[in-house]
This record gives sequence, structure tokens and C-alpha cells, in this order.
Amino acid sequence: MSTEILTSPLHSMGRATRTLCLRWSMHVLVAEDDGSVAAALVSALGRAGHTCTRVARGSDVLLRHRDAQALLLDLGLEDRDGLDVLRDLREVSQIPVIVVTARGDERSTVRALSLGADDYLVKPVRLHELLARLVAVTRRYNPPAEPTRLETAALSIDVDARRVRIADREVGLTPNEFGIVVSLARRAGTVVSRAVILDEVWGDAYAASSRSFDVHLGQVRQKLPELTITTVRGFGYRLEDAV
Ligand code: CA
Repeated sequence: MSTEILTSPLHSMGRATRTLCLRWSMHVLVAEDDGSVAAALVSALGRAGHTCTRVARGSDVLLRHRDAQALLLDLGLEDRDGLDVLRDLREVSQIPVIVVTARGDERSTVRALSLGADDYLVKPVRLHELLARLVAVTRRYNPPAEPTRLETAALSIDVDARRVRIADREVGLTPNEFGIVVSLARRAGTVVSRAVILDEVWGDAYAASSRSFDVHLGQVRQKLPELTITTVRGFGYRLEDAV
């Protein structure tokens, strides 16, 4: 089975390609439920200088994507359809995604691309091409830098020191409360979806943390009464960027 997915062995790779791949060494999340296909992909990526995390379930993609610089996504996963996983993922992340699937029909391809896949490869994939495309989609992606200080009209946050000041007093927040405030303050004046906050603070946009989130948001509102956090029903929350 492992030979089916790789139509060209890595050792036949030209020097230029090998150098290109090594220069772009990255951590890749491989979502593939077939053990031998996954092993072949992981081993090939490893020989090209990349490190991998392999998962077989779509729900694990949503838990592990934050550690990776790119995702190879099979569409037939153990628990969910890969296209549904992609839709949920795109709510919270712009990580480069290459769909690697046996589904070669035009409808699946168009659907994956319109849901936000950066590229689409039909199995059996050609290894040189996969590695080159991986480098290409990653090169185009520049994740936003994490700010170390955040200022809104009312609020001053030192992200590294984990200190929050409002109206000339320092407020003690728990890690989750702090995470919610940072998530909202980074996009003050715009609506932040509940899924994005859950993903950033709990590392899981669609899990059972949802109830716990309401409790923590209530605490934030109580501890920082000067802030106006508007609930946008059915979508998320907006930290008003004015006193
Ligand atoms: Ca599969």
C-alpha cells in the first residue's frame, strides 16, 4: 500500500529540489486514516527535512492544527468527512491546507477549493510534486505576528508579562479570562466568533469547553466592568474600542 501513494522515491530527487525542501523545513499535520499511506507520507516528509504529527480523526485536526505550519488533509477520515473538517478549520485558522485524496471528481475538487483548501492532489500523489506544492503554499502564508502589547481606549495589556491594566488599576485574571480578553482586544471594534476565542484560549473550537467559556466570559465582565463587550447573537462578541 505504501508504494501506491508514492510514485517517485525521494532518493531520486534532484539536488536542487532537496535543497529547496530542506530550506523550508516545517512541521506538518498529516490527517490520514489509512495507516500505511500515513506512514509513507510521514517517512517521505521526514526525509525531506520536515517533522510530522499524524492523526486519523478529523476532530484531532481541530485540536492539533495550532502546532503545525501546514496540513495534508485526506477527505475520508475515521470520524468525519474531510470537507466538513476543512469548513470548521477555516472558521479559526488560515493554515495552508493541501487536500490529498482518492476523490478525483471535479465536484469534490471545486468544493474543497471553495471551502479554503490551498491545493488539491489526487492519490496516488507524485512525491516531488507534493513537496514542491507544500513549500509553495507555505511560502505564500505569513501568519500574523503575535503582539506583545495591546492598547484599546480603556485597556492596556502587556501580553508577555500577562498584566492587564484598566482605568489605572491592575486587574488579576485567571489564564482563561486573560486569554479571552487578549483574543477580543487583538480585534477590538470587530466581531470575534465564539469558535475563534475557544480555539485560541482552549485550543479547541468545537468541544465541550463551550459552557466553561460562558462562565469565564461572565467573570471577565464582572472584573472589568469598564469594558463594553457586545454579544452578537449567533456569532460572537465585540470589544467596543471606546470608553
Ligand atoms: Ca482515507
